[in-house]
Amino acid sequence: AVAEEEDSEEDLVERAPIVTVMGHVDHGKTSLLDHIRNANVIAGEAGGITQHIGAYNVRLKNGRHITFLDTPGHEAFTAMRARGAQVTDIAIIIIAADDDIMPQTKEAISHAVAANVPIVFAINKIDKPGANPDKIKEGLAQMNFLVEEWGGKYQSQDISAKKGDGVFELLEKVLLEADMLELKANPNRNAAGTVIESSLDKGRGYVATVLVSNGTLRQGDIILAGTNYGRVKALFNERGQRIKEVGPSQAATVLGLNGAPQAGDQLHSMNTEQEAREIATKREQLAREQGLRTTRR
Ligand code: GDP
Repeated sequence: AVAEEEDSEEDLVERAPIVTVMGHVDHGKTSLLDHIRNANVIAGEAGGITQHIGAYNVRLKNGRHITFLDTPGHEAFTAMRARGAQVTDIAIIIIAADDDIMPQTKEAISHAVAANVPIVFAINKIDKPGANPDKIKEGLAQMNFLVEEWGGKYQSQDISAKKGDGVFELLEKVLLEADMLELKANPNRNAAGTVIESSLDKGRGYVATVLVSNGTLRQGDIILAGTNYGRVKALFNERGQRIKEVGPSQAATVLGLNGAPQAGDQLHSMNTEQEAREIATKREQLAREQGLRTTRR
């Protein structure tokens, strides 16, 4: 692994929480993420998030920021965890109020618990005539997840992802959790982050979406990600705009790697290309010796 120095307290600044939405299929995960991306909970340019890069950051009307992991299903969450990457700070577990607590809901809850990630429950589809949010809260209580309004410690919010009811309140509850976590990072150091997606693009070469956890990633940086390395040729944000740098809790697509790293691979800015190449080569040798699939495709 790449050695990382401790940051001293005075170098640390607040960073936005990184949030994953998980739940049973059809319970409204996509609708919620779409609503947040487009709707009036966002300050400034609504609907400006045009690119799917696997994560996006929004500034809410209250001026605060949240970064959402927007990867298909919670498979990404588990895959990344399996590779030792913990990118999520808070999990929103979405449950349709016209349905039951389903197997995938339970699975999502256990993933969050295993990862020690705080949970906020979103009880969705309350606009539907058959919706019964109390039944869901009852079910949660039976699983020992007592919601706050019933005297428990878990925050929950009734929402309609379709109409937008309760969504802002939900996000305020997420921010409350974030406050308790005291999330901080040092923007003035070499970047460290996690690869959340990667692909080979015909025109642009290898493209990786990186969620920066600490430091600032800049155009021109020498980077190492898994068994791949390179120099950052260009950075783009979720609005498809070319940017010069990306800081903590922000995601960007990165051009310039010599291969496609895997989701969950750690990315680091390095001081010299030689060092990056050596570590990448060593890792690749190791992977080959262990008979593992190499990431160069
Ligand atoms: P996902 O599989 O969890 O991503 O679920 P989707 O967001 O795709 O939603 C599944 C279906 O439920 C879609 O037809 C949505 O339009 C619908 N849906 C999602 N949220 C709501 C809601 O708050 N109210 C109503 N009435 N329908 C909803």
